[in-house]
Amino acid sequence: MIAVAVVGAKTPGNVGTIARAMKNFGLSELYLVDPPELDPEGDAYGFAGHAREDVLPNATETTLETLTERFHTVGTTAVTNEDARSHVRYPYRTPAELRDSLRDVKTDTCIVFGRERVGLLNDELAVMDEVVSIPASDEYPVLNLGQAATVVLYELRELTVDSYQHPDAIERADESEIAGLNEQFGALLEAINHPDGKREKAGRLFRRVVGRAHPTPREARTLRGILRRAGEYAVPPATDTEER
Ligand code: SAH
Repeated sequence: MIAVAVVGAKTPGNVGTIARAMKNFGLSELYLVDPPELDPEGDAYGFAGHAREDVLPNATETTLETLTERFHTVGTTAVTNEDARSHVRYPYRTPAELRDSLRDVKTDTCIVFGRERVGLLNDELAVMDEVVSIPASDEYPVLNLGQAATVVLYELRELTVDSYQHPDAIERADESEIAGLNEQFGALLEAINHPDGKREKAGRLFRRVVGRAHPTPREARTLRGILRRAGEYAVPPATDTEER
């Protein structure tokens, strides 16, 4: 199942456009984080077309945290910092690559769109399992929010309109198992006394690798167990107060 979330949108018309694109491409679950007021007589409903009957009025107001706990989350961004040293927005997939990877797994995924001007903030993108960017002109890669959602959902249509999934699609570990694995990696970083300044970055890097890999429940459990044991073997760092 694929859901859509919009974080911090200011313009009701964009929310309406997104609801319409969702209905056009066979999606129905819309989540709004910190939404603008959606007046039934206003632009959101005006722009929503037939989605004014269902997708838009059924939208659920929620928090980003609730979404990351429940879904495999995919953040969208125009600005990608194409550089492996900074991995808040890198590596990223194109929408078509995302479709190809989701075809092979059974998962509940949420595509997350950002604010009109600043998009998703770095600390919001940091908690996403994956990042997607629509390839566009280097000179001006920033699409309008509603149009960006339309392009992404168009690219995913094989999964949503046609409901096509690979016959041998694997069961992906659910989000709580993935979160448990990520937490265990965090505990290992602590146990090996990984430098404070690098822990957050290392944790994010791990989350993204796991996010793109779509581990099965068994893979997630096995890796988690290994990380836990590794942490138990870690030698605590010597402290000054220790006897010599
Ligand atoms: N500087 C912001 C631009 C915000 S545009 C950024 O880097 O994302 C508003 C929203 O539209 C974004 O949060 C994203 O959800 C979507 N969007 C705009 N252009 C996009 C693109 N080229 N690829 C993917 N999403 C895009």
